[in-house]
Amino acid sequence: MREEQSAGGVVLLGNAILLLRKYNGDWVLPKGKIEPGETHEEAALREVREETGVKATIGKYLGEIHYTYKENWDQSRSVHKIVYWYLMKTKCMDTIPQREEGFVDAKFIHMDRVVDMARYDDEKEIIRVALKEIKKGH
Ligand code: ATP
Repeated sequence: MREEQSAGGVVLLGNAILLLRKYNGDWVLPKGKIEPGETHEEAALREVREETGVKATIGKYLGEIHYTYKENWDQSRSVHKIVYWYLMKTKCMDTIPQREEGFVDAKFIHMDRVVDMARYDDEKEIIRVALKEIKKGH
């Protein structure tokens, strides 16, 4: 099975967390593949910047998620994926969703609504971990 490793961020601005909306309506956290020679932290920051236009600073490591999916071009091939997540902070309110990657919106969503909006259960769980960390820090 092919293995893929990505990294991403739960980005905090005030009372809000950054989510991306895909062309199909799903709201997801920003993430992307780790490039050779890059640390997980560097990849997470770069992907947040590329996918949302937001320049952030790194915070605590939040954990990893695992899932498997089928290759688009060959449904008999599975990919096992690990995504490493980091808490991040920003002061940058302006977002630029990366349309070439199929993202139609990037928005800061209030903490009270963000878990409900996120499409995937494993991302919801990472957001819950992040919210706990954020509340500890206040
Ligand atoms: P990356 O953003 O890391 O470059 P990608 O856009 O190439 O990744 P994924 O976002 O991993 O690919 O999506 C590949 C498949 O996995 C899609 O079918 C997607 O619906 C599914 N998927 C994406 N995120 C999750 C998740 N958190 N849990 C389960 N399945 C997911």
